[in-house]
Amino acid sequence: AVKETGKADFRFYEEGMLERARERLALTVELREALQAGELTVEYQPKRNLRDGTLAGVEALARWPHPVRGDVPPGVFVEIAERSGLIHALGEYVLRAVLNQLQAWDAAGTVVDYVAINLSMHELSRPAFVDTLHRAVRSYGVDPTRIRFELTESTAMRQPEETMRQLVKLRSHGFDLLIDDFGAGYWNLSHLRELPVGTIKIDQSFVRGSSSNLADREITEAIVGLAKKLNMRTIAEGVETEAQAEWLRDLGCDIGQGYFFARPMSPDAFVRYLDPTMAYAS
Ligand code: C2E
Ligand code: MG
Ligand code: MG
Ligand code: MG
Repeated sequence: AVKETGKADFRFYEEGMLERARERLALTVELREALQAGELTVEYQPKRNLRDGTLAGVEALARWPHPVRGDVPPGVFVEIAERSGLIHALGEYVLRAVLNQLQAWDAAGTVVDYVAINLSMHELSRPAFVDTLHRAVRSYGVDPTRIRFELTESTAMRQPEETMRQLVKLRSHGFDLLIDDFGAGYWNLSHLRELPVGTIKIDQSFVRGSSSNLADREITEAIVGLAKKLNMRTIAEGVETEAQAEWLRDLGCDIGQGYFFARPMSPDAFVRYLDPTMAYAS
């Protein structure tokens, strides 16, 4: 396509490329600084049992409130981190924030059974990843079963065997694993057979589409059915309406997450959400 374009267009294209590369570089430098300065935050989004509405756990989502650029979306900075190798520092940062938060919740009597952390497959490229993680979790006195990992595939697995070994090791320490964004991206059915994973998270595009699109409804139903046959649990993400929550519950989907229940929240907002009588305390 580039060859076909005229000279003027091509120059424009090149400038666009350069501009993007420059922007990426700037963001990489700024992300490194922000991690060192402790400027990223973590928000928590509730996961609700669809059958009785009780809180199952929460998902930790990283936030970068940039002093000049405003909030940089995770979709942008996670990719920057993956490309630059900062993903390891980002992962450690989020883990530490979560461990501190679990300690604080426990001390305050706020009952949160588990926190699910998004894990980029790039983080597994460090051979010491699992041991370092396990040590950190133990040093906080947190039971590994209270930390779960949502595995995201942004590219096809590069070293499937090594990755598999790491995931098996992670699981053997008691950390639960789930497949994030299932049905979108690079996950395929053979992963369900091979990965030590007990839960599938249905990608939000199907949940969103289910309200208007028969194919999305059928796909969602098929994923829940498949999970049942494999003795796996299902989570639906991106649940935005009561109708979607009821439909998913009737399908037999176990857990729902989405704006219908609550948006991701700061730890303070989360405490008020759990106990509205705390709204004016502290
Ligand atoms: P994800 O793990 O699939 O997380 C779900 C995304 O959907 C989050 O976007 C969440 O805020 C959003 N969401 C939740 N409920 C709804 C809803 O009802 N409607 C809509 N439209 N959206 C909803 P967010 O926070 O922008 O994160 C985007 C992605 O960035 C995440 O997708 C995850 O893959 C990645 N990410 C976020 N935090 C981290 C992190 O600490 N580490 C890593 N490696 N990745 C992270
Ligand atoms: Mg996730
Ligand atoms: Mg994800
Ligand atoms: Mg998703």
